[in-house]
Amino acid sequence: MKKIWLPTVIMLLLLALPVLLLYRSHQQLLSMEETQLQEERRQWQLIDRIEQLKKQEEILQEQNALLQQEKQDLVIRAEKQVYLTFDDGPSVVTEDLLALLLELHIKATFFVVGANPSEYKESMMRRIVQEGHSLGNHSYSHRYSTIYSSKEAFWQDFMKMEDYLFEVTGIRPMLTRFPGGSRGSYSNRSMDVMEGLRGDMDRLGYIYVDWNVLGGDVSSDDPDFFVSEVLRQVQGKTNATVLFHDTAANREILQAIPLIVEELRAQGYHFAALDPKEYFVRY
Ligand SMILES: [Zn+2]
Repeated sequence: MKKIWLPTVIMLLLLALPVLLLYRSHQQLLSMEETQLQEERRQWQLIDRIEQLKKQEEILQEQNALLQQEKQDLVIRAEKQVYLTFDDGPSVVTEDLLALLLELHIKATFFVVGANPSEYKESMMRRIVQEGHSLGNHSYSHRYSTIYSSKEAFWQDFMKMEDYLFEVTGIRPMLTRFPGGSRGSYSNRSMDVMEGLRGDMDRLGYIYVDWNVLGGDVSSDDPDFFVSEVLRQVQGKTNATVLFHDTAANREILQAIPLIVEELRAQGYHFAALDPKEYFVRY
C-alpha cells in the first residue's frame, strides 16, 4: 500500500507542476497586461490633461494680449500728446517744414488746399504722405464766400479737392478741417449751412477736427510770439492740437517749432500725427 502511494503522489505532483507553472505564467501575463493598461490609461489621462492645459494656455494668451493692448491704450491716453497741424498749404514753406519735422523726428498733420496748383505743391502733397504725416482735406478753394454759400457749393468744392488729392497722392482723406473751423460764421447764412455740413460729415464718415491751441492765426514776424503763445496755451492740456499755417506769411514757424518742441518734450509731451481713430478735438 505504501509503495503505491508514494509514486502516485509523485505522479500527481509531476502532473500538477505544469498546471501550476501555466497558472503562474498566466497570472503574470494578466498582471503585466493590467500594468500595461494602467500605463496606457495614465498616458491617455496625461494627453487629456495636456490638451486641457493647452486650451487654458490659449485662453490666457488671448486674455494677456487683450490686457497688453488695454495697457498700451491707457499708456497712450495717459501720455501728454501734441498734434501739430498745418493749414492752407502746400506753400513755399512746406519743403523746409518737412525737412525740419524729419530732423526733429516729428509726425504732423497737413490740412491742404488745392487753389493755384503747381507741380511743386503736388510733390509736397506726395512727400507729406510718404514721410508719414497725416493728410487732410481743407477744401479746394478755401473761399468762404463760395464754400459756405450753400451745402451744395461746399460739397462741390470739397469733392473737387478729394478727387484732386486722390489723383496726386492716391489717398481720399477721411480727415478734414473746415476752413475757419467747424463753428465759424462767415455770412448771414453760414451758421445754418455749417450745421448742415457738420451733420453731413458725420453721416458720410468724415472726421472733421478743430484745434485747441492757436499757434498764431495772424502772421507775425517774431518767432518768439509763436513760441510763447503755443507754450502758454498748451499748459495743462493732455492733448493739444496746435493750429499753424503753412503759408509764406508764416515762415517764422520754422524758427519757432524747434524751440516749442524742445520745451514741450522737456515737459513730457509726445508729438504725433492726428489719427481720428485715437483722438480728435472739436469745439
Ligand atoms: Zn484754412
